[in-house]
Amino acid sequence: MRVAVIGGGISGIASAFFLTQRNIEVDLYESEERIGGRIGSEQLLGRWLDFGGKNIGKNYLLFRDFVQKCGVHDYEYFGFNTSQMIDGRVVRINKEGAKLLNTIRFIGLCGFDGIRKLYPHVRAIMKDRRMGVLNSDYFNRLAEQYDHLSLAGYLQEPCLSHVVRPVTVRMNGAEPDECYLGNFGSNLALVLDSYEQLKSGMHGMLDAFQAFSGTGLLRIITGHRVTSVSRDPGTGAIMVGYQQGGVQESAGYDRVISALPAGRLSILFEGLLPEAAALLRRVRYYPVAVAIVKYARDVFQQSQRAMVFDHSFPLSNAGAYGINDLDLVRYTFSGRVSRSVVSKSTKPEDVVALGEQIAGPYFNIHDNTRESFAYRYIEEGLCAYSPMHHRLLRDIDKKLEPFAGFGATGDYRRGASIEACFRAADECVEKLLGGVD
Ligand SMILES: Cc1cc2nc3c(=O)[nH]c(=O)nc-3n(C[C@H](O)[C@H](O)[C@H](O)COP(=O)(O)OP(=O)(O)OC[C@H]3O[C@@H](n4cnc5c(N)ncnc54)[C@H](O)[C@@H]3O)c2cc1C
Repeated sequence: MRVAVIGGGISGIASAFFLTQRNIEVDLYESEERIGGRIGSEQLLGRWLDFGGKNIGKNYLLFRDFVQKCGVHDYEYFGFNTSQMIDGRVVRINKEGAKLLNTIRFIGLCGFDGIRKLYPHVRAIMKDRRMGVLNSDYFNRLAEQYDHLSLAGYLQEPCLSHVVRPVTVRMNGAEPDECYLGNFGSNLALVLDSYEQLKSGMHGMLDAFQAFSGTGLLRIITGHRVTSVSRDPGTGAIMVGYQQGGVQESAGYDRVISALPAGRLSILFEGLLPEAAALLRRVRYYPVAVAIVKYARDVFQQSQRAMVFDHSFPLSNAGAYGINDLDLVRYTFSGRVSRSVVSKSTKPEDVVALGEQIAGPYFNIHDNTRESFAYRYIEEGLCAYSPMHHRLLRDIDKKLEPFAGFGATGDYRRGASIEACFRAADECVEKLLGGVD
């Protein structure tokens, strides 16, 4: 059996990993020259730094197992450390601090209505971690009841501004009035986790994966943009059409997995399955811009390593790159105001200056020297799913069903976290192969 996986982001890497674990030959197609997609890294002053997903929860069991099998073992503590300005005061939530004090602060941020409404959902996830993903039974029932409202209609202040928005704007690039309770379980599960990062960064992991792929079952084919999928009427094989260096070619496979963001997959199906393509386009993605800036001296203190900014700012978060990198700031621009201020054509230098202007009053930025920076703007950066998302997923699967041997995974299946991408890939491989060994 030969399987093609389209898309070399973490969803495609996970799919390829689970296939090779079953001794199946895989061709992994990636349009860029490097795999990684949204976990990809850039170099800053000779060091590889991660611009997308990099924080690894203690509950990321599938991802951690994968990393270990690739031979990477070194994690460093990242923690959960955030602060925000409320009524002229800096309020910190820091899991390293006194537990009672943090709990009291958190209850204060949630307010009575927030506690009353969110606590049962938190309890459901704590009781059964499988509920803390997209399309879980528990949250699908809530979607049926509440997804006619956005989160802004379901919850009230202060919970909305001080607890929910920092989460949605960071994880989905969306405001609470653009997100839905039925999908919020995948966010809550992330808030309940605590974080580490790989010492060698995602770049080290990607290197290790490429070395691991040298076992013979996996071919990583970079610089190949897949432009079509179709069925060969003669052999029944699924033909993957691709473009490389201006040349169009194709190859036949027994099975094909798409690990593309929903919008990208819709392009492949426009001619072949237009109804599936239209449904895929309903999954929403919002842009995100990330700048990582190296300063001459520490910007943060150990006890306050990040700050989230409210809906009036384009900067959603400014945080230390790592617990030992207090001189390295990761500025994240997402949310509604960001969309109107920062675009593909905005000069990186201007975005960095904007971040410094907003975060400057709270950290050691203005009296510091900026040594260098790197920047990435991602148009389809953060997935915000859709209202009644479980129904949309069901409808997409129905429309894809006639195309036997084809499976679709990605960040819109089980949630956008790296672990959720692994879980979705695992399920996709299992469904596609059934009992095949
Ligand atoms: C700024 C940011 C911070 C984040 N932080 C975290 C975090 O700390 N922890 C966490 O768990 N998650 C985090 N996430 C989420 C997580 O990183 C993403 O959800 C995940 O990386 C998505 O991976 P993917 O493989 O599904 O998609 P992608 O990474 O987008 O991969 C798709 C791949 O397909 C390729 N491609 C596209 N079209 C074609 C084509 N036609 N042919 C061939 N290849 C194609 C693309 O080049 C890309 O490499 C973050 C995301 C962002 C953007």
